[in-house]
Amino acid sequence: MADYFEEGELVSVLTTQLDRMLDYKAPAGGCWTGAFVDVPLGPRKILGVVWGRGRGDFDINKCRPINRVLDVAPMRDELREFLIRVGSYTLTPMNAMLRLGTRAPGLGDAPSMRKVYRMGGAIPNKLTDARSRVIDVLRDYGGASFTLKELAEMAGCGTSVVKGLVKLGAVSEEDAPRDTAYPPLDPDFGGKDLSEDQATAAAELREGVRSQRYGCTLLKGVTGSGKTEVYLEAVAECLRQGRQALVLLPEIALTSEFITRVEARFGMKPAEWHSGVTMTERRRCWKMVGQGDAQLVVGARSALFLPYRDLGLIVVDEEHDTSYKQDDGVLYNARDMAVLRASLNDAQIILASATPSLESWANADLGKYKRITLTSRFGESVMPEMNAIDMRNEQVPSGRWISNSLRTAITERIEKGEQSLVFLNRRGYAPLTICRACGHQIACDHCDARMVEHRFLKRLMCHQCGETKPMPDTCPSCQAEGKLNPVGPGVERMAEEVTELFPEARVAVLSSDLFGSARALKEKIEEIASGEADIIIGTQLVAKGHNFPLLTLVGVIDADLGLQGSDLRAAERTFQLMRQVAGRAGRAAKAGTALLQTYQPEHHVIRAILSGDEEQFWEAEAAERRAAGVPPYGRMAGIVISGPELAEIFDLGNHLARNAEPLRRIGAQVFGPAPAPIARIRGRNRVRLLVKAEKAAPLQQALTQWTSHLKLPNNVRLAIDIDPQSF
Ligand code: ADP
Ligand code: ZN
Repeated sequence: MADYFEEGELVSVLTTQLDRMLDYKAPAGGCWTGAFVDVPLGPRKILGVVWGRGRGDFDINKCRPINRVLDVAPMRDELREFLIRVGSYTLTPMNAMLRLGTRAPGLGDAPSMRKVYRMGGAIPNKLTDARSRVIDVLRDYGGASFTLKELAEMAGCGTSVVKGLVKLGAVSEEDAPRDTAYPPLDPDFGGKDLSEDQATAAAELREGVRSQRYGCTLLKGVTGSGKTEVYLEAVAECLRQGRQALVLLPEIALTSEFITRVEARFGMKPAEWHSGVTMTERRRCWKMVGQGDAQLVVGARSALFLPYRDLGLIVVDEEHDTSYKQDDGVLYNARDMAVLRASLNDAQIILASATPSLESWANADLGKYKRITLTSRFGESVMPEMNAIDMRNEQVPSGRWISNSLRTAITERIEKGEQSLVFLNRRGYAPLTICRACGHQIACDHCDARMVEHRFLKRLMCHQCGETKPMPDTCPSCQAEGKLNPVGPGVERMAEEVTELFPEARVAVLSSDLFGSARALKEKIEEIASGEADIIIGTQLVAKGHNFPLLTLVGVIDADLGLQGSDLRAAERTFQLMRQVAGRAGRAAKAGTALLQTYQPEHHVIRAILSGDEEQFWEAEAAERRAAGVPPYGRMAGIVISGPELAEIFDLGNHLARNAEPLRRIGAQVFGPAPAPIARIRGRNRVRLLVKAEKAAPLQQALTQWTSHLKLPNNVRLAIDIDPQSF
């Protein structure tokens, strides 16, 4: 329960700047625990949250008063508890955790300071480059408004450029609109008649939501079985209960399609939260969520840290997706933290996937999660037939990748007016550029990575740090002219091959780097869905969730691609990705086929993909991981040391490995140091130690003891990654 503090009483405040509490005096009018406040720190004013009673470890007369209590709902106990728990799980300083919980742009600003900018009336025909970039941003976001700084940043120009456009009348400057509530959603607006299977599943989920208690359900079903339809019924029930719901999606590119679907179901658009949303809209969302005036949030992982007034349901869609764990300063797995958030909020959580993670599968097996399975596709459509193309028997000329069998299948589809997807999970034109005279391979100057040719951009790009450079005319090593050659295929090169093989066909390439904006991508997807393409060439972007009703053939160029390397999760990933991609075929009335080009059709993973026998696959995987004592049957952590000098960080790593008493005490093992999975990035070398412990071991505590004594030279950093994605 929140405490109230009278003016002058000591309160302890967590700020976004320091990893410890500071004492302040409550301001005139007093304040509550959880209040968002503006406090003085040295000469600065910073954002903080009142955490509780002050400890008074020093003279009360020296304590400064809080400047101001912000006009937003106080942070609720369960969110504060969530920040503490995520912080101690991931070993993240509390001020960094608080920053995740206060990501509302302009939260600390006085309302009078806010102006917003939107499209004006008079757009001149001739504009400088910088100015037209500003106009492009405004066009891309429709009627949205931006703060000055935000607009300038997005357009990559100075604020004076925007101001210049305001003078011209091309951009209008207005007072920020008052944040308004989101229109109410109607749970009974557009529900569908459910099949028997779906209705049973929906009833079970609704019952969970009605209990207003914590419970986790793994909702499993092949793509097209109606998982979304079913979990939207749980959302509807949550709305009826007057509680808030959150749907997490793994990829921003999927949100606009999903929002349209929510609108069709509930009559109104939900609140949206991710990095592609404008700052004014994000601030509105943050505030309305806190007041309970946003009933449903559709968002990216950081939406877990919004200040919900009464969160009753979380859905994690595509729960197996690896992008739920990403480094945005704090290394957390959003799926796991969503389960924690739900338990702290007496909320239900639904993990939805066609190909669950081994973690969730194991938890369901242990009975920690309920399991609901939708076994067949909705309506007429059936799972595609899956077959291997044995590349050892195919004659494919060098520099070409499409087998005759696949080519014939595509031709048949074109004749029938159906679509084919050519899938290759590699962006760019060619993954490697090599000099035929000296064998030199063009690599990034700052990373341990080869430069990937991007022919549309006419540049070489490093996929690790994003650095680009022009394709040189001569070999950088031996200076030979005209000897640089592309090796291997990327989607752009596939587009070239497809265009040559099918000159009459309309070809569309879907790769995240080919679209400047979310709107451009959305338009392309709509075009494809309406039939304006015969052949789609795509990376994993297409594997995730888009519905192409005319698509009946999926051809996978290199099904073996993900199986290389030593990562213990490689099999799981490949299995998930391949099943997912294949699931794109035949989603409407027409039956689909998936053809996998492979050099190792007997490989157990390829066989499992083809047969679709998941239980068997998972049991085999589980047995292997159990034997190795790795997640989900043991715990792991990665310790990454990075710095400019490779020898120095190896020494530090070795020093850690030799002095691992705190780990030995809990029976944990240390491996390494070895080059990290990304061994060099932006000029910094990285080595990694892996720690393996039993499931119940107090790992975090031991890791802190172990690493905190290490003296790090300037310029060297140590990061701890609990539950690393690759091991
Ligand atoms: P999943 O999430 O499992 O991939 P969806 O919920 O997206 O499946 O359903 C696949 C397609 O089938 C969607 O276009 C959806 O609208 C449709 N669909 C599913 N269930 C029903 C139903 N009961 N009535 C009408 N259409 C349905
Ligand atoms: Zn690089």
